[in-house]
Amino acid sequence: QFPFGRRLPCDIYWHGVSFHDNNIFSGQVNKFPGMTETVRKITLSRAMRTMRDLFPLEYNFYPRSWILPEELPLFVAEVRMMKDSNPSWKPTFIVKPDGGCQGDGIYLIKDPSDIRLTGSIQSRPAVVQEYICKPLLVDKLKFDIRLYVLLKSLEPLEIYIAKDGLSRFCTEPYQEPTLKNLHQVFMHLTNYSLNIHSGNFIHSDSANTGSKRTFSSILCRLSSRGADVKKLWSDIISLVIKTIIALTPELKVYYQSDIPAGKPGPTCFQILGFDILLMKDLKPVLLEVNANPSMRIEHEQELSPGVFENVPSPVDEKVKVAVIRDTLRLMDPQKKKRKDTHLSFHTYLLIFPTQLQSLHAGIASMKDKQHKHHSLKLSLKLKFYLKLGLCQSPEQAPGASEEPPDAAPSPEAALPSLCLKQVFPKYARHFSYLRLVDRVAALFIRFLGVKGTTKLGPTGFRTFIRNCKLSNSNFSMAAVDILYIDITRRWNSMAIDHKESGMCLQAFVEAFFCLAQKKYKALPLHKQVLSLIELCECRLAALHGKRLV
Ligand code: ADP
Repeated sequence: QFPFGRRLPCDIYWHGVSFHDNNIFSGQVNKFPGMTETVRKITLSRAMRTMRDLFPLEYNFYPRSWILPEELPLFVAEVRMMKDSNPSWKPTFIVKPDGGCQGDGIYLIKDPSDIRLTGSIQSRPAVVQEYICKPLLVDKLKFDIRLYVLLKSLEPLEIYIAKDGLSRFCTEPYQEPTLKNLHQVFMHLTNYSLNIHSGNFIHSDSANTGSKRTFSSILCRLSSRGADVKKLWSDIISLVIKTIIALTPELKVYYQSDIPAGKPGPTCFQILGFDILLMKDLKPVLLEVNANPSMRIEHEQELSPGVFENVPSPVDEKVKVAVIRDTLRLMDPQKKKRKDTHLSFHTYLLIFPTQLQSLHAGIASMKDKQHKHHSLKLSLKLKFYLKLGLCQSPEQAPGASEEPPDAAPSPEAALPSLCLKQVFPKYARHFSYLRLVDRVAALFIRFLGVKGTTKLGPTGFRTFIRNCKLSNSNFSMAAVDILYIDITRRWNSMAIDHKESGMCLQAFVEAFFCLAQKKYKALPLHKQVLSLIELCECRLAALHGKRLV
């Protein structure tokens, strides 16, 4: 552990909460810059809205959401309109404070005019979302799924999904929301951190009973009832890929700002926690993405009122140890070297301990101080697993010698098979057409000019318009300036951070959509945007790398 930092470079840096060290020039860091900001409730909802505007059918797995306070009038108006057109519609909404977690501050309402809504949102921005009233129930209880996803690389995009996850159960039998039961958190919210305090919470060492189970045990049960589990998995994979496609543009802007291209810097990877709800018809719905999912493998047990003890949780252990073990296996820097050269097993051993140390350092600095000793145990356990395979020394491993690896058994042969399954680029051809905002972000980044910024100044915007030849007699440079000022001012008034002035990516995307609509009137939005992207890319390609003017 290196609580005060470490001068010697590491192969893998394991940070506890977020990417925060600008003095890393090599190796791999387990967090992406800007991930925490990108998956916040408001930012995620905005990114999903943009994608839904472009591809309404492909992005209908995220509940309709409104951002408060600025979209309160829109929320009220849209709900009224929907009720007018369908008087039998009796919706419920869930209000979630931005940046909240573990169910903190969440409540349900039946009507936009609910007094609490107008009272609290002025002080705390939030997302209000359509509440899924008919979730799939198991044992009459609502549950959600926590799936672990490894974003292995942003450019090129590489995504892995863990084959197993956790199912977290409510502790009161579910009833559809009524004014009487709206406040019953143990019935409506699946958060472990809330339900653990219910007298009905059941700790179980078995993967298929109790209040926390493996997702695979639920799948077994569904399969025995005749459900199409293959289709469910394929829907989940598609939800994960589409969600990450919605997040990558913003992440790329942060990435070039923190780790400028062409300068020495680390590469990044990150384990994300996807929270997914299954509807009665088995359709998966995305609830949220967690940048820093808990990797605890123990749970709290209340011995007597107010006295808690931490006991091992085999269910957590089964799922989480496999995720971390496989992440390290996939990110193993020696793997590539082993492929390229015939390094001896011994050389590998000399280098590997640095990874464990950095893993220790990261785990020890985890967000929740209380987690420290559990985390340490986790890392000890990891050591054990790694010892089993990767760290096996020639003396420990019978039959192993200092012969070239072709002669020795593969060090990974002793490990269980990978639980992380690659889904991108494996299924890229089914999803690549969705990556339009990525291409808009590439244009944005190109015109950012000075590296290290995330916002485009007025000159950068003008340069973009000029080089892509988008202004003409109907759209003067004065109109360009007005568009820039209008959109930028509005976005900056809604921004949570006011650190930098200028046009953020989402504002640029809005301006870009606006230009596309103006230029290609009759087409559907995604075709308008695609046409404008192709035009811009073509005009920029014609510059043959000449400096932008
Ligand atoms: P937090 O980050 O505070 O856990 P979530 O968005 O995960 O916030 O919501 C908390 C819980 O509320 C979820 O685990 C789920 O049980 C429930 N929930 C959230 N959104 C919805 C929704 N749209 N429909 C039904 N239940 C929801």
